[in-house]
Amino acid sequence: MKIAIVGSGMIGLCSAYYLNKQGYEVTVIDEGDGSNNCSFGNAGFFSPSHMVPLASPGIVAQGLKWMTNPESPFYIKPSLDVNLAKWSWQFFRASTKKRVNQAVPILNQMLMESRTLIEEILANTKIDAGFDNKGLLMYCKSQHVLDEEAEIAELARQYGQAVDILSSSQAEKLNPGFEIDTVGAVHFKNDAWFTPNSFMSGFQQYLKTQGVAFQFNTKVLDAEKNHGHIKTLLTEKGKIEADQFVIATGSWTAKFLKQLGIKILLQGGKGYSFEVKDTPVLPKTASILTEARVAVTPMQHGLRFAGTMEVNGLDLSINPRRVLGIQKSIPDYFPQFNQDSFADVKPWAGLRPCSPDGMPYIGKTKKFDNLIVATGHAMLGISLGPVTGQLVCEIAQENTPHLDDTLLAVERYS
Ligand SMILES: Cc1cc2nc3c(=O)[nH]c(=O)nc-3n(C[C@H](O)[C@H](O)[C@H](O)COP(=O)(O)OP(=O)(O)OC[C@H]3O[C@@H](n4cnc5c(N)ncnc54)[C@H](O)[C@@H]3O)c2cc1C
Repeated sequence: MKIAIVGSGMIGLCSAYYLNKQGYEVTVIDEGDGSNNCSFGNAGFFSPSHMVPLASPGIVAQGLKWMTNPESPFYIKPSLDVNLAKWSWQFFRASTKKRVNQAVPILNQMLMESRTLIEEILANTKIDAGFDNKGLLMYCKSQHVLDEEAEIAELARQYGQAVDILSSSQAEKLNPGFEIDTVGAVHFKNDAWFTPNSFMSGFQQYLKTQGVAFQFNTKVLDAEKNHGHIKTLLTEKGKIEADQFVIATGSWTAKFLKQLGIKILLQGGKGYSFEVKDTPVLPKTASILTEARVAVTPMQHGLRFAGTMEVNGLDLSINPRRVLGIQKSIPDYFPQFNQDSFADVKPWAGLRPCSPDGMPYIGKTKKFDNLIVATGHAMLGISLGPVTGQLVCEIAQENTPHLDDTLLAVERYS
């Protein structure tokens, strides 16, 4: 049985991994050369701590405050685009306690399962991606924000996660020699991280050794259809035949599916990262500077800082003001840094595929019997990659998914 997967990001590769293990003949097609997409330059967290979706009570008021600040961590570019208007309306509608209460149990289950699966994948593939399971510290500058984080910690505990609330000195003990200026931190102990660039390259190599075929520099333009069935993919370089097709094209998925007559609401949420190579002391634990919404990851080749969420269509250009916003926030938490520390960094930008409600789209559509969509993972595409790959495989095999996938329905906004 042949399967063609469009997209070689984390979601495409995890799908390829599980399908290949089940004996499918897998081809992965990507318009890029396989060396960069959103799955490379991100913060590399596996974060059960993020079981509450971005669309949650309070985010709309906070977002409106941030909109006027050109260095803020969140921004929706005002536009007359109808899809953005529909997306924003559904984001607003999803930001209620009731909707969040529905999302949290399933998101938590997916994140925790994925956290286990990534260790299995790493053991199986022997990829050295600097995986570390010391958890994630949410550093807080103000007591008020620490109290809010403590509420999320309590919720996480109710769902089986291990979490500690730490004083500033307790947090410092986890990072000997690394100076921290905060009132305290919440330590989500189930979280982990790796260097995504190393993992993505290693995963491609591993999959090739297992017989997965890759066609890079090949843009998929459309598909040949016949009575609710996809026959072939039409690419710049000819046709690709398969029995089933997986669309894992990240932020570009809504645009691609539109050609097939399928509507999903999806926006690119642009984020930036950069690495500082010669830090005198590296922290031992990954962290988030909570008020600034900046992720800090000790990676194999330096200390990576990542942040901002600019809902801005498919624009990948780098806005220096937002990068500066990230850089300005760092010395407030880590006094060993000043603006000179960032003089030589090279910012990277990536587009998170964001659904309005923060839940991914995983499943088949009503229109085609052999098309599986897997996207919309927003800020959790690394964390949710393995469990998504497993779900895609179950759907391809026509097995009932092992978890309740009601909230993941692809056409929930159609
Ligand atoms: C700054 C930042 C930090 C982040 N940190 C984290 C984190 O710590 N943890 C976490 O879980 N997530 C994180 N994320 C989110 C995560 O990176 C994304 O959710 C994830 O990479 C999305 O993976 P994907 O496979 O869906 O898409 P992508 O990685 O974008 O891959 C999609 C691929 O599809 C290809 N494609 C698109 N259209 C076509 C076409 N028509 N034909 C052929 N190919 C096509 C593209 O070339 C691309 O290679 C972060 C994101 C950013 C921006």
